[in-house]
Amino acid sequence: MTHLLRVRTRHASPRAYDPYITAAERRDLQGAAAVLKGIRILHVNATPKGGGVAEMLSSLVPLECGMGLCSSWHAMEAPARFFRITKEIHNAVQGKQFRLPSADIEYYRSVNVKLASRLARLPFDIAVIHDPQPMAVIASVHDRPMISRLHIDCSHMDARVRRLLYPYARAYDRVVVSRPECRLGLPRSIVSVIQPAIDPLSPKHRDMTRAYARRLLARLGIHPKRPLLAQVSRFDPWKNPLGVLEAYRLAKRRMPDIQLVLAGIMAASDDPEASSVFREVKKASKGDPDIHLFSDIKQLRGITNDRFVNAIQCGADIVLQLSTREGFGLTVTEAMWKGAAVIGGSGAGIRLQIQHGENGYIEHTSRAVARRIEMLLGRPRLRAAIGRRAKASVREQYLVPRLLRDHLRLYTSFIST
Ligand code: UDP
Repeated sequence: MTHLLRVRTRHASPRAYDPYITAAERRDLQGAAAVLKGIRILHVNATPKGGGVAEMLSSLVPLECGMGLCSSWHAMEAPARFFRITKEIHNAVQGKQFRLPSADIEYYRSVNVKLASRLARLPFDIAVIHDPQPMAVIASVHDRPMISRLHIDCSHMDARVRRLLYPYARAYDRVVVSRPECRLGLPRSIVSVIQPAIDPLSPKHRDMTRAYARRLLARLGIHPKRPLLAQVSRFDPWKNPLGVLEAYRLAKRRMPDIQLVLAGIMAASDDPEASSVFREVKKASKGDPDIHLFSDIKQLRGITNDRFVNAIQCGADIVLQLSTREGFGLTVTEAMWKGAAVIGGSGAGIRLQIQHGENGYIEHTSRAVARRIEMLLGRPRLRAAIGRRAKASVREQYLVPRLLRDHLRLYTSFIST
């Protein structure tokens, strides 16, 4: 029941990304790739779809291949108990008290031992192990360079979970994090900071006019003319969907016309908590007909997840992402890329991307979010200006060619040492 399954990815031609890079950047990429030709990079993560890691790997892996590397992506298959345990570990890494009994910790280790035996049989020169679920494989496989890539917010980690994970992290040849505060207290010499990125050529980011987006959303019962607020996120406590509901309610007192979409199509096999959080959100929304909750792909009436998310991000008047913890938050990047006015919460990954008042807003309380909504809905030109600056900042820092460059440099450091 514990396996590593190869995830098939689409083909990507690096030349297609030329409009997003300069000639010097292209030369830089080609130079790095020449040294790495034929090198076998193996990415391992917990789920083939759902969530930011799968989103990123589905672009990065084909691009690495397009540059001449032999990269592959394998996702874990493991019993439900394993993913319940690893969600607890994930939550404790983000700051919840860690209470797992030792039998569960043993189980986490034993699944990783099995996983490691599968991993050891795969052909690779460098492995990149994403997030804590498969992290403990390092105890059993370390005959080749191993990189741990931590995407989640480790800046408020519970001390007990740190004691569990630190020895594994320390055993890797390199640990890659999205922000320096997430380095678990590891020596700087083994830590690299690489920020995530989105793929401008992904179907999720195809150009879509606001009018078309609103027509598409109208098919799903969302009024095409009334103001629309939206948060696109897994149903997860750290994403703060209840905080979104509260801010919406406060704003609605003064603007009764507003509507809200909370979209979290459940696709990630490693997130068993989503259904219970969804039930809680549904109860808290008290049948308000202006709150639209999406958790199941069947609700989309044949519209694909990517088109649906794109329509929300292009059609919403304001995109919210009120997460209290966020390793990075690709949904913020995605909405900013579409020129949306985004209001973010206190999660550090969001604060990294949004400069308050410049390319979006950061608010810390529901009341402040409601006030910001009211102000922004009354000022469409300001919204548009914020959105333009948001798009420019994503173009500059958070598109996939830059992520590719950082990964090629990372791999090169193992070749030349
Ligand atoms: N997402 C999606 N459909 C949904 C909700 C989310 O495709 O209904 C995608 C979203 O577009 C983004 C990813 O899931 O690409 C979430 O990544 P993020 O880094 O924001 O959060 P994570 O889920 O990894 O914590």
